[in-house]
Amino acid sequence: MILDIINKKRLGEELTKEELDTFFSSYLKKKVKDYQMSSLLMAICINGMSEKEVFDLCDIFIKSGEVLDFSDIEGIKVDKHSTGGVGDKTTMVIAPIVASLGVPVVKMSGRGLGYTGGTIDKLESIPGFRTDLSDSQLKEEVRKIGMAITSQTSNLTPMDKAIYSLRDVSGTVESIPLIATSIMSKKIASGADKILIDIKLGCGALIKTKKDALRLSSLMIKIGKKYNKEVRTIITDMDNPLGRSIGNAIEVKEAMDVLLNREKGTFRNLCVEIASIMVSMGKNISMEEAKRKVNNSINNGLAFNKFLEFVAYQKGNIQKLKISDKTVDVISTKNGVVKRIDALNFGKLSVKLGAGRKNKSDRINPQVGIRLNKLVGDKVKEGDVLCTIYVDKILNYDYVEDFYSIS
Ligand code: URA
Repeated sequence: MILDIINKKRLGEELTKEELDTFFSSYLKKKVKDYQMSSLLMAICINGMSEKEVFDLCDIFIKSGEVLDFSDIEGIKVDKHSTGGVGDKTTMVIAPIVASLGVPVVKMSGRGLGYTGGTIDKLESIPGFRTDLSDSQLKEEVRKIGMAITSQTSNLTPMDKAIYSLRDVSGTVESIPLIATSIMSKKIASGADKILIDIKLGCGALIKTKKDALRLSSLMIKIGKKYNKEVRTIITDMDNPLGRSIGNAIEVKEAMDVLLNREKGTFRNLCVEIASIMVSMGKNISMEEAKRKVNNSINNGLAFNKFLEFVAYQKGNIQKLKISDKTVDVISTKNGVVKRIDALNFGKLSVKLGAGRKNKSDRINPQVGIRLNKLVGDKVKEGDVLCTIYVDKILNYDYVEDFYSIS
């Protein structure tokens, strides 16, 4: 039976819900081996899945664990998810903005994956910060201060957890049906009323082509409909890193700078856009009105105060946030304008510095990272500092200049 299912998918045929359930449930019970599951996942990567197969598999993933219920918390709960990128610290900015405007945010976030960072690792760079809230602690925090961010509990879509680790090491991450299933099963099980998905597109993202981004978007919206959840998607650039910083503590610092209105530019604009969509979904108001409210919340300090309240509630001591004091400047040997900053290479560099994990059990160094002094569109003169690398050990980083395209 197990081999028949693998062969059927290898030949590009459609699997029934029963076949999918038998195979995946047996894997969770350790009756299907890693090599058999890898084989099926690879057949899915190569031959794809029909919409019906995706809906069926998503349902199987959701039902593999608990489904949270926040209906006893007043207001429309809007969740947001990014498909992952380099320097993506958006959640730390948008959650306090949205909560400060009365839209409750209940957010389960992940850890870093490959060269893409995770919000939970970033928040844990704040000494004392707790990310292991129980369901009841999560609800109490949202009732009291309007927001909470926690790591995903082990009871939520355990099937995704098991399959994801295997995909990570079997070359089967980049499959649109599998990505849609993985993300949407977690989002549906997390209990939000409405969902916004930020699909990252570019060399530093899982999704490399516009065609794939549109396919993923359409699939996720259709999955949402099956569960009566409004899903909106935006497709945003990940050819260049997001914002000025890559790392953990250094990204928390940048998130605060945006909330304090000290940073303008592409990253701030993206945060305003995402927060506005969430507020518009949560309050059923126009984007224009939502954007006005979001800008006001940043300008009058409401959003920053909400961030401080949230950090203190989860026992973080923001005064003790520390970035390494050992630094190396990367100097330009060219004159010109920055055309592109290679997100993928900067992501890989951050992992090499210790800001991300090479293996699941690796410990992250929260104090290391990169600050980009020059961004796309900036003029550069020979001798200018392109970026500063915050390190544990001083080494030669001259090669990093090549991550910048200047002409
Ligand atoms: N993020 C997820 O949670 N799952 C995927 O498959 C890809 C990105």
